[in-house]
Amino acid sequence: MRPDPAQAGSGLGQSRTALYRVLVVEDEEDILELVRYNLSKEGYDVACAASGERALQLARAELPDLILLDLMLPGVGGLDVCRLLKGDGRTAHIPIIMLTAKTEEADIVTGLEMGADDYVTKPFSPRVLSARVRAVLRRRRAEPVSEEQTIRIRELIIHPSRREVLVKGQAVELTFTEFSVLHTLARRPGWVFTRSQIVDAVRGDEYPVTDRSVDVQIVSLRKKLGPCATYIETVRGVGYRLKE
Ligand code: CA
Repeated sequence: MRPDPAQAGSGLGQSRTALYRVLVVEDEEDILELVRYNLSKEGYDVACAASGERALQLARAELPDLILLDLMLPGVGGLDVCRLLKGDGRTAHIPIIMLTAKTEEADIVTGLEMGADDYVTKPFSPRVLSARVRAVLRRRRAEPVSEEQTIRIRELIIHPSRREVLVKGQAVELTFTEFSVLHTLARRPGWVFTRSQIVDAVRGDEYPVTDRSVDVQIVSLRKKLGPCATYIETVRGVGYRLKE
């Protein structure tokens, strides 16, 4: 059931965000209302679902531009909703931001590996949430960086065709695997990668890469990147990302 939309927000629908329909899935009424109110105020077209079953129905019927998905739902849980939507060709493209408790690290990792785009831990401020929503929508619009495209992130330049990395204009010697890890992160700055997503991306080298060895690669990468070391951010309990 969609809550009564007459309360607020409908008069502000002229902003460009009104082009975007966001489905909010949350069984806690207070949080659902807070999120609905704030996103409507920013001009998003907001649909709400208080259960996993309803979320699946609405997602399939309305194909929203983005889904905010609580993981702890009665009945069909958030991870199942995520898996079902990402496994269905009609809905797989819809970005999902998970709403989670801080203690749900294992679920966050599972969700990201199923294809969720990002997560926000509760309690969150409306400003943080709407920044994440904007970031995910913006990243979705951006052209994916091709395998061979040169990547520039502030003082860091990566030339994939030459497998060359420059920090402040100085070439840095990386091993094959270090380069692959860095290139994987850099092709999608701002995205969190779990260790096994990084392993999958760089696998195929002469020796097997494990979850644990990703940490080792990151340590040695940071050393070699010197002033750009802080670009690689550890996302505690989840994985790594290159700061946008
Ligand atoms: Ca919940």
